[in-house]
Amino acid sequence: MTSDATPTPSPAAPATHRTRVVVVGAGPAGLTVANILRAASVDCVVLETESRAFIEQRPRAGFLEEWAVHALERRGLADGLLERAQVHHEFEFRFAGERHRFPYGELAGRRHFVYPQPLLVTDLVRRYADDTGGDIRFGVRDVELHGIDTERPSVSYTDPDTGRRERIDCDTVAGCDGARGVCRESLPQGHSTIARHDYGIGWLALLAEAPPSSDCVVFGAHPRGFAAHMARSPQVTRYYLECPPGDDPGNWPHERVWSELRLRLAADGAMPLTEGRLIEKRVLDMHNYVVEPMSYGRLHLAGDAAHLAAPIAAKGMNLALHDALLLGDALVAHCARGDSGGLRDYSAASLRRVWQYQEFSQWLSEVMHGASSGDPFRAGVATARLRRVFGSPAAAAAFAELYIGKDIDP
Ligand SMILES: Cc1cc2nc3c(=O)[nH]c(=O)nc-3n(C[C@H](O)[C@H](O)[C@H](O)COP(=O)(O)OP(=O)(O)OC[C@H]3O[C@@H](n4cnc5c(N)ncnc54)[C@H](O)[C@@H]3O)c2cc1C
Repeated sequence: MTSDATPTPSPAAPATHRTRVVVVGAGPAGLTVANILRAASVDCVVLETESRAFIEQRPRAGFLEEWAVHALERRGLADGLLERAQVHHEFEFRFAGERHRFPYGELAGRRHFVYPQPLLVTDLVRRYADDTGGDIRFGVRDVELHGIDTERPSVSYTDPDTGRRERIDCDTVAGCDGARGVCRESLPQGHSTIARHDYGIGWLALLAEAPPSSDCVVFGAHPRGFAAHMARSPQVTRYYLECPPGDDPGNWPHERVWSELRLRLAADGAMPLTEGRLIEKRVLDMHNYVVEPMSYGRLHLAGDAAHLAAPIAAKGMNLALHDALLLGDALVAHCARGDSGGLRDYSAASLRRVWQYQEFSQWLSEVMHGASSGDPFRAGVATARLRRVFGSPAAAAAFAELYIGKDIDP
């Protein structure tokens, strides 16, 4: 533990501790912020509602953009990733029974690193807690933020072992508790706007115990619905199937899943899909939101707590890391050098990338879902966009840059 405990004044009052920064949430965003603080010897505590075993196994994202990998590498946080990640630089789009390869790596000069999110989280926890002795408290309950508009904010929670309320006084709170956390709700009404976009569709997110059936990501635009194939590891593949929003995963037994995937991803000369046991099956109602501004008083939101991007363009984890890199550096400048310029500019700097990625996700969504929209106008527009990307070098170059994410140096 890095924080000093002071005696409890009375059994009813919470025990108080003090640190510089409380990081709420141990996902990619929170753990990256915490590691940056720890490396700069800035005292911090990470609070996480789940257990360590749970977060180290929760399957989610897998595609990291090259700028994010290099930014993690510069901070000594990419050793496992660089050793084990597969590198992807092409995808294939299937529509009208045709296959179209898209060499975005060649066009944009940058690649994706395929590294399942649980592996990244495992590496980041190990680095923070085991290698550098960082303070992380798992399984905490009923987290509450207090006084974020004062100079002495605090975060309280119930300790899972003692059942006692604990309170940590701090200078700043990093709200990295994802889409369903409490930090976003702590923003006072009227301070921030929440811009939300619902796509009106669902995606059945599947993980199959099966090797990939292509050497790259495959997208299939089909009148029956969109489908996608993405490698996660040599043994596990992620698939997506468009479905009605709110659909019950129970409506998708093994046989139905594989026959829809075969139909929607069919194209001349395509390799047959290798089937396997479905180890994850859940429906995502596709929507995006953006909280603007992302900071209020001493609270700074990062990652999915501040903005959600439906997994259409695989941007969520990359945005979470972008925030965390900016916020981590800004907190170090503030805590170690008294320079608060980075914190002041944090929200605006983050949101520039967030909105670029949101725009691209929305554009790509029309391309992916036009064919199955039931609207011949949308279907025609989607095909026109695809033909342009695959037929015009200028359109292809612009698309490639958006798909792999523009280089930055956070
Ligand atoms: C099926 C799926 C596929 C995806 N695929 C991709 C992809 O290919 N590429 C990509 O870039 N992104 C993808 N994403 C998005 C990506 O997973 C998220 O954007 C990313 O996890 C965001 O990281 P985060 O740290 O902001 O939030 P999270 O990873 O959600 O972490 C937040 C943490 O806070 C904890 N928490 C919650 N409430 C509290 C509380 N009250 N107190 C303390 N802790 C709390 C949670 O348990 C969690 O550990 C995908 C998402 C899903 C669901």
